[in-house]
Amino acid sequence: MWTEQSSSHGRPPGPTAKSPNDSRRSHRWRSYGPRRRRSERPMSVCIRMVATASPRSTTSSSTTDERLPCRAWQAARARSSRASLNSVSTPMRALAAKRASEEHEMDFRLGPKADEVRREIRAFLAENFSEADRRRTLEEGGGHDWDLYRKLAAEGWVSAGWPEEMGGGGRDPYEILTLYWELCKAGFPWIGLLNNGFIGHTLLALGTDLQRKEVVPRIASGEIAFALGYSEPGSGSDVAACRTQATRDGDDWLIDGQKMWTTTGHTAQYIFMLTRTSTQERPHRGLTLFLVPTDAEGVDVQPVHTMGGERSNAVYLTRVRVADSARVGEVDKGWAVVRFALGLEQAMGFADLQEKFVEDASRWALARDDEGTRPFDDPRVKEQLAQTAIHAEVSRLLRHRSTWLAAENRDLGGKGAMTKSFSATSYLDDAQAWTQIIGPAGMLAEGEDGAVANGAFEEAFRQTPVNTIYGGTVEILRSLVAEIELGLPKSR
Ligand SMILES: Cc1cc2nc3c(=O)[nH]c(=O)nc-3n(C[C@H](O)[C@H](O)[C@H](O)COP(=O)(O)OP(=O)(O)OC[C@H]3O[C@@H](n4cnc5c(N)ncnc54)[C@H](O)[C@@H]3O)c2cc1C
Repeated sequence: MWTEQSSSHGRPPGPTAKSPNDSRRSHRWRSYGPRRRRSERPMSVCIRMVATASPRSTTSSSTTDERLPCRAWQAARARSSRASLNSVSTPMRALAAKRASEEHEMDFRLGPKADEVRREIRAFLAENFSEADRRRTLEEGGGHDWDLYRKLAAEGWVSAGWPEEMGGGGRDPYEILTLYWELCKAGFPWIGLLNNGFIGHTLLALGTDLQRKEVVPRIASGEIAFALGYSEPGSGSDVAACRTQATRDGDDWLIDGQKMWTTTGHTAQYIFMLTRTSTQERPHRGLTLFLVPTDAEGVDVQPVHTMGGERSNAVYLTRVRVADSARVGEVDKGWAVVRFALGLEQAMGFADLQEKFVEDASRWALARDDEGTRPFDDPRVKEQLAQTAIHAEVSRLLRHRSTWLAAENRDLGGKGAMTKSFSATSYLDDAQAWTQIIGPAGMLAEGEDGAVANGAFEEAFRQTPVNTIYGGTVEILRSLVAEIELGLPKSR
């Protein structure tokens, strides 16, 4: 249903279309609630329609491996460059003519190895991940399912990104991107997989020989899993403000304090836990990492449910005894360990989910009702669909750039922060704009009678604010972009 708010949310205030049909529709109140549909049209996605406009595009079913229509744009640019040659000096003209005649081709495909991963993961999902699994794990919200996780581990996916010389799968960043792209789009609970990929890699690089020998193989095989225990009630963005205390007690350590947002803490056997071991030094010094068993005496894991549907945890620690062999890295030098582990995160963003959102929205917008009309004929729907597709495409390209930098061993600079902050905010904007356009029916969840697009808009509306927080809030990420990319003064 249209509302007053819908026109004040950055959407055009009134009718913009010239066709009689469009202008007629824009004047009446329109409900996108429960409607009987004559038939579902085959899915056609804006982002894909753009991609297939390229004469070089492939016929693959994925948008991630298609060329953009760069060549048409480049040809037009070359024509306009030639047209303006008369107004410049001779050497400049020669240079401009040379440039105009050059062909620059950009290939945004991820390569044959990534294509193979896509096929492999799709086959894995078809065989092992049913619609019932998707619904169940979504409802549980834990981001981890032991049965599914162990099946992936058995095929080498937990250790896939670890260096080959350290016993990992040696998969390149494009293959890893494709793995998570496919899992995310399918709604697979992948958080445990992601965390344990990072932790195993960190232990290989910075752990003790004993940890490399005893712990890492058990992570790789899917026998054990870790949760990340950095955040606390008073330290999230500022991780180094950690106050959970670890004190020496003979050969052991005693840990007291509280962790917050320890996602998968209720299913994992261990927490990769940041503690303070000294208050004498500056905050970034005096930190130490431990592998803390979740079944140790004094560990109390309590659920925290988010509006996005995730189940995270608060973890209370009272005189929790751990052996010194559970320490990772040197005493008081834990910041180096945290930095290594955080550096493995490529700030992936949400391009995969945005792409799925475009697909869901397109499918809904193009379906005709019994009168033969479809939401897509409404100019506001058309415009928002285009906007959503543009955001998804830019997010995808930013993520590809971050991945390319990682693959080339180049400095990521602020590009990862850019990727995540653009992706999180554009996805949030789109989810909110769609609910303004659709009205109350857009608030009906999957499975509820009359849910629009099977609840896709409702789910995005709840999830997207949460996306702007974890893995670095957008405010912090923007500060990083300002500092690293623009050279502006530090804000923290
Ligand atoms: C669903 C979910 C899952 C999570 N999973 C984990 C996990 O598994 N393990 C883990 O350790 N943590 C996890 N986190 C924690 C997450 O990393 C933190 O929530 C995040 O870093 C923000 O910290 P905070 O919540 O303490 O907010 P704060 O740091 O207190 O920030 C509050 C607000 O102030 C802003 N702000 C803070 N400092 C600045 C500044 N210097 N400049 C400008 N603005 C600033 C922030 O952007 C934010 O808007 C999770 C969080 C969520 C929501």
